[in-house]
Amino acid sequence: MSSSLSPSVPLNDGNSIPVLGFGVFKVPPADTEQAVSTALQAGYRHIDTAAMYGNERETGRAVAASGIPRDELYLVTKLWNSEQGYDSTLAAFDLSMDRLGIDYLDLYLVHWPMPKRNKFIDTFRAFAHLRDQGRVRSIGVSNFEPEHLTALVDATGIVPAVNQVELHPRLPQTELREVHARLGIATEAWGPLGQGSLLTNPAVTAVAERHGRTTAQVLIRWHIQLGNIVIPKSVNPERIASNFDVFDFELSESDMASISSLDDGNRLGPDPRTFDFTGR
Ligand code: NAD
Repeated sequence: MSSSLSPSVPLNDGNSIPVLGFGVFKVPPADTEQAVSTALQAGYRHIDTAAMYGNERETGRAVAASGIPRDELYLVTKLWNSEQGYDSTLAAFDLSMDRLGIDYLDLYLVHWPMPKRNKFIDTFRAFAHLRDQGRVRSIGVSNFEPEHLTALVDATGIVPAVNQVELHPRLPQTELREVHARLGIATEAWGPLGQGSLLTNPAVTAVAERHGRTTAQVLIRWHIQLGNIVIPKSVNPERIASNFDVFDFELSESDMASISSLDDGNRLGPDPRTFDFTGR
């Protein structure tokens, strides 16, 4: 087992979050226990799942089998769109916790704002209730645009601890990150490797060759040095381990700039302003 763990950064509620975590989107349930076990052995302590991924139960099995004390782990799941609303959120949370097999969660995220439904404020009020009960340590959101954040803060008086958004060199979310900095919200990057599409990019490859590192490691460093929380996904044991092996080198300002020059506003996922999907 790795002796070095990811550094953590403080959140606006007094808790802290490991900057490098392991994401399990699209990891089939049959592969999830093995993948999460491999990640925990490699040193990851922060695991990012979601009710919608259909692998909370297998994630929980790997956590239980690891024998790692609960207070050394950082577990995150997300409320799926179909469950938005106060009472439905409380019920969905209980089901997620049963599947994960834990008695408190480190971070609960509203998966998408779904603005047409106009339920994210009631949903977040239920999150605040869960936090007040001590069942969730930190509450946050995902895929929220500035207007959704403003509406949420105005209505509830609570600033989410985290906003997890699509973020990679082609979509660096510069304006949103400025809004986060102003409000005190931590920025978390999903699709940090461009869902794999940036791993053969020539600009990233040039930096990787200069450092004798993989392109994935360089992209993960780019996120960490920008101040993002980052949750790359892989099911390959060597890649899971090498993606975590990023704390012994540093990108220069010019490395950072050449990767940041890839910004072309390209979004891989749906637009949160119009996304209105409750299926699975
Ligand atoms: P990612 O950018 O992490 O890319 C994953 C892809 O890169 C996979 O195909 C994987 O096989 C490949 N890969 C990873 N490491 C590699 C390596 N070292 N060498 C070669 N290939 C490698 O994309 P992602 O999984 O979409 O995002 C990461 C996590 O973010 C997810 O697992 C999930 O937890 C979260 N996420 C959240 C949302 C949301 O709406 N909140 C949406 C998508 C993903």
